[in-house]
Amino acid sequence: MNRVGVIGGGQLAWMMADAAEKLGIELVIQTPSSADPAVSIAKETLFAPVNDAEATAKLSDRVDVITFENEFVDLDALSQLQSACFRPSLSALKPLLDKYDQRCFLKANDLPTPNFWIPEEPPVSFPIVIKTRRLGYDGQGTLIIRDQTEWDAAIAKLQSVPIVAEEFVPFDRELAVMAARSIRGEIVVYPVVETQQENQVCRCVIAPAEVSESVAREISAIAHTLLDRLEVVGIYGIEFFLTKDDRVLVNEIAPRTHNSGHYTIEACETSQFEQQLRAVSGLPLGGAALTCGGVVMVNLLGFEQAESDYLEKRAAIAQLPQTFVHWYGKSESRPGRKLGHVTALLDSDTDLRASGLNLANTIEAIWYARS
Ligand code: ADP
Repeated sequence: MNRVGVIGGGQLAWMMADAAEKLGIELVIQTPSSADPAVSIAKETLFAPVNDAEATAKLSDRVDVITFENEFVDLDALSQLQSACFRPSLSALKPLLDKYDQRCFLKANDLPTPNFWIPEEPPVSFPIVIKTRRLGYDGQGTLIIRDQTEWDAAIAKLQSVPIVAEEFVPFDRELAVMAARSIRGEIVVYPVVETQQENQVCRCVIAPAEVSESVAREISAIAHTLLDRLEVVGIYGIEFFLTKDDRVLVNEIAPRTHNSGHYTIEACETSQFEQQLRAVSGLPLGGAALTCGGVVMVNLLGFEQAESDYLEKRAAIAQLPQTFVHWYGKSESRPGRKLGHVTALLDSDTDLRASGLNLANTIEAIWYARS
């Protein structure tokens, strides 16, 4: 199996390049624009939106297996493509593409998740969280509603967009984990990481997270249950809330590689991108252990409307010790857009969380400085 089709050509597909080369795999990408990051590393590109199933039919003629870097596909249309081989399968995506369905799936499988409902009446108490049911990412479509005025404004803005409401979880920390499952049903779970968000967008990730053994065990058990129940072939990212009393709630499941797994490129035996390719092409999975004491990953988010490659800032960040800058080559910067990320390895004899956050602050001070 040496030709893998990828639906979506953003940075997640772009970062598959090194692993594909290592494994002798050619990537054929379906993505709408020639400016998309993965076009430069693809053997071939089919220029079409990710939800264009006719293009995916053509993609399937050119590859042995199709995987996803973007799950915003048209599942009904894809299910008509009898001869296409999707890994993960369409049934492993189906309960996850709509945030309400995802919560229902978690509940039906007795997995801990925040209380949720379809709001028909204005809420009687606040805060609550509302989310657009489909196509949300990077906090787009997630709103924390603190009072009636904010509720009225949100409803007026969203109009007829389908939404789900959920309890506001006053979490202590946010955690995440990557987990992969092979065609033989073998599962590997990566270390639990801590993620920090600002305005609902991930700012940085620290691995490993400082959590008790029982929390780490519970997260691993949830990952196993999820991947087994869905019979996943591929890699999934799972996000969690950890409450003050050490309760773990699943926030969200991403059926693909994930921002919270970028640190695996430099810091684990097998990167999440190699693991995805190993799983979907039928190879045995690689190890998921850390190869260093700890690591921090910092997202380089757009902070202005511009066309710039920020070369000076990137060069300044790259001067920091044990630091790797990944630049996605996007031609346009917009506030909040993920333009790149930085991974910095940490020494294990330090307080990992404190030094990780410190380093994140240093990197952000360079990145967000007005020149
Ligand atoms: P997206 O799919 O856009 O990433 P998420 O559902 O992951 O959206 O939400 C983004 C962020 O919003 C979370 O990481 C968290 O910080 C905050 N958030 C989401 N749901 C809740 C909730 N029920 N309670 C408290 N904060 C929440």
